[in-house]
Amino acid sequence: MVNTLDPPARRVSRLEGIKENSHFLREPIATELENDSDHFSKDGVQILKFHGSYQQFNRDQRGKSYSFMLRTRNPGGFIPAVLYKALDRLTDDYGSGNLRATTRQGFQIHGILKQNLKTVLSEIVRNMGSTLGACGDLNRNVMAPSAPYKNRPDYVYAWEYADKLADLLTPQTGAYYEIWLDGEKVISAEEDPEVKEARQRNSHGTVFTNVEEPIYGEHYMPRKFKICITVPGDNSVDIYTQDVGFVVITNDAGELEGFNVLAGGGLGRTHNNEATFARKADEIGYVDKADVYDLLKAIVSTQRDYGDRFNRKHARMKYLINDWGVEKFRDQVARYLGKPLQPFRPLPDWKYEDYLGWHEQGDGKLFFGLSVENGRVKDEGAFQLKKALRIIIDRFELPMRLTPNHNVLLYEIDPAWQDEIESILGEHGVVFDPSQLNPLTRYSMACPALPTCSLALSESERVLPSMIDRIQALLDRMGLGDEHFVIRMTGCPNGCARPYIAELGLVGSGAEAYQVWLGACPNQTRLSKPYTQKMPAVELETFFEPLFAYFKQDRTKGESFGDFCDRVGFDQLRAFSESYELGSAMIASKSPRKNRRRVSLPDEVYADLKAHSNQEDRPMNQIVKDALLMYFKEKSATEAVVVETEALLNTEPTSVAETMSITEATPIAETTSAELI
Ligand code: SF4
Repeated sequence: MVNTLDPPARRVSRLEGIKENSHFLREPIATELENDSDHFSKDGVQILKFHGSYQQFNRDQRGKSYSFMLRTRNPGGFIPAVLYKALDRLTDDYGSGNLRATTRQGFQIHGILKQNLKTVLSEIVRNMGSTLGACGDLNRNVMAPSAPYKNRPDYVYAWEYADKLADLLTPQTGAYYEIWLDGEKVISAEEDPEVKEARQRNSHGTVFTNVEEPIYGEHYMPRKFKICITVPGDNSVDIYTQDVGFVVITNDAGELEGFNVLAGGGLGRTHNNEATFARKADEIGYVDKADVYDLLKAIVSTQRDYGDRFNRKHARMKYLINDWGVEKFRDQVARYLGKPLQPFRPLPDWKYEDYLGWHEQGDGKLFFGLSVENGRVKDEGAFQLKKALRIIIDRFELPMRLTPNHNVLLYEIDPAWQDEIESILGEHGVVFDPSQLNPLTRYSMACPALPTCSLALSESERVLPSMIDRIQALLDRMGLGDEHFVIRMTGCPNGCARPYIAELGLVGSGAEAYQVWLGACPNQTRLSKPYTQKMPAVELETFFEPLFAYFKQDRTKGESFGDFCDRVGFDQLRAFSESYELGSAMIASKSPRKNRRRVSLPDEVYADLKAHSNQEDRPMNQIVKDALLMYFKEKSATEAVVVETEALLNTEPTSVAETMSITEATPIAETTSAELI
């Protein structure tokens, strides 16, 4: 099994042996799935990833009670109604009861037990879904803009080629269907013949012959491999963070001519390891549409054959391009392609789009983008997003596109249904008008981190809402309340929520501490840089107040926070912070900082409070104030009755605390901090 451009033999990691011995992703999981153990072996866990599942355990609980996360692979975020309904049902029956939209436009179900894994996975496949290749060392979910513009040929091509490129690189092993569907091959859509033919075409050594995996071979890729495709100007996909990015190029008549190609982006890194770093993709060239499959195979083959298979921290394609330089990389790609790439075509400026709210889709129908905080589709207190979405999908059978910033976009909506959809959402406590969202929340992203991710060093999804509330409160006090910028948070440096290209990136660096990254721009075309290694979460206000004060004082007109940090530079930011007197930039008309107090609330109470605030359209502090006033009033009345009763009985007065039911306070560590007054 040798391809024609033999790269030199090199040392490889143990994982390469696991892949080689897996018999094209079959073992040891096929065998271990049948035993009574509640988990897979270390080798099994590695192969399981290729099937779209991670073995996890709840880090909030003592001991290891294993469960599994399943991630769907749906190019361009396409979730047909039948699949959404299946996922909604499966997480209730076998998972944690909620769904997690990911930053690569898939859904995750957490909390599945090993004995249920086969049932859940096979149900996903039988309902037009797949998890094959959602994780593991191969091409991951292909991203594309979620906007379903029917009158924009470039968007239509982006969707079409997201599917085709994903199909080209879909693993061909029979293992998936053998293991999870007892050999039954369930096909949701016929593969395009030109894709089939392109997969087998041996363009200058890109293909292994007579093996199950013509493109990947038995070792698959050195590491994960990420692709996106978009249209000129639309950077909703964070194109600079991908291993390969394609940009649709059409002619004046709207016909597809070819694609601009970028390569070498990637964000994962390791703390205190300078050899690992976030990297922005380079512009590689342009390719005619007839050559796009061979070009992608040429890039994949270059990384497959020359990527580092020994040091997994150096195995992403960004390191190969960085080590070689763009010219050498381009030359090798041209060798596999059989011809040089054409020059990169000029593009307009990029814009970051989130498509929230109502839009015309160009054929008389509407599409509707709904913000999903941290991508979590759940029911919690008065906030019933999961129920509402299920009712809407059941009622109207709408397809869905997940967006790259873990929101949900419904489309094919008859304009006559708009009011009913809004009513359903409103009745379930869901804010559907983007103008009512806190813009900091709207443009934020967080990875799941604790308690399920074994790599998390800090909280992410569970604390981002309270961190954003605190940042917003700080901005309010400083007279910057209308400012917004892109905030992204992850629990470790792997960067799943792409924090290094956010204007303000918070990257877990220890228990309740974060590395702070600053200086990216609002359209995600420039990387941030690490400003500090460890900001304790409790010091968020004192840390950011000087930075915001400097921003307020010296920004240029319309300049964003990220652009400001980049322009003035970190030396200036640090010098200003050191000389800044805390509190001096607070606006006089608002409550001075010293008069503000913090109160801690348990997470579930805070979630209810927030949901009520949204539903009633009243600020959270107003609801808390009213509730406390009512409590004090009732307490006074009770006290009066007690004193009166005891006076009547002629006994010593009993303390109020003994007469009332006082709930034991929740320890601060288990609570969410909320600025209430
Ligand atoms: Fe886990 Fe780290 Fe990814 Fe967050 S960024 S989900 S903590 S691996």
